[in-house]
Amino acid sequence: MVAVLAAGAVLTVGAPLISGTPAEEPDTRVQEVLRMAFSTPTDKITSQYPVLVPPRAATADPGAEARKMQLALQLQQQRAAQAAQAAEAERQRVAAEAEAQRVAQQKAAAAEAARKAAAGFARPAAGRLTSGFGARWGTTHYGIDIANSIGTPIVSVAPGTVIEAGPASGFGLWVRVQHDDGTVTIYGHVNEIKAGKGTRVGAGQLIATVGNRGQSTGPHVHFEVWLGGSNKVDPLSWLRQRGVSI
Ligand SMILES: [Zn+2]
Repeated sequence: MVAVLAAGAVLTVGAPLISGTPAEEPDTRVQEVLRMAFSTPTDKITSQYPVLVPPRAATADPGAEARKMQLALQLQQQRAAQAAQAAEAERQRVAAEAEAQRVAQQKAAAAEAARKAAAGFARPAAGRLTSGFGARWGTTHYGIDIANSIGTPIVSVAPGTVIEAGPASGFGLWVRVQHDDGTVTIYGHVNEIKAGKGTRVGAGQLIATVGNRGQSTGPHVHFEVWLGGSNKVDPLSWLRQRGVSI
């Protein structure tokens, strides 16, 4: 066993010696020419070694330049295609980002609207704030005035029950709504009453329309907030505290 292994080892080690051919001694002149060829500018080589190194035109494959040009062109086309792909990918990324942002904004707006609806507060009417709460013309203005054209919807600012709907001194016609915490809101100078006494109303529900009745100098709704049914407070800050800005 040992002998066989030893013989095999000898055979393996010896194999290259048997099959290999001995390296020839390189021709020093050829080596020198090669060295010069790789270290000397071409024009000098051609003048110094006209036979061993033929002129460039003769050595150059006539098709090589064309192939090189072809390759360069292909490379350029590939790069252009890659750049176009990258630009398209970037365009899609930006578009996707914008879309995601739009969706997020929509969601946020919907969530905000839902929050306000759940909280149960609404603006009494669309229009321009023409008068605030407080001293006015030598007396106290206990509400706010929102001007708009006759017939503009007036809505309940919160869920509640209509406790009065009809004529009122100075207001022509008014609607009063009592909310669940005891607060009463009033809507004056209305043109038409749309929710009669005893009607249960939600926030934003139509109760009347803008008019110009009573002591009024133009179509508007006069809106008041009575805490506990009697304590008249500034409707603007009351609404603002409930997420409704006018
Ligand atoms: Zn007023």
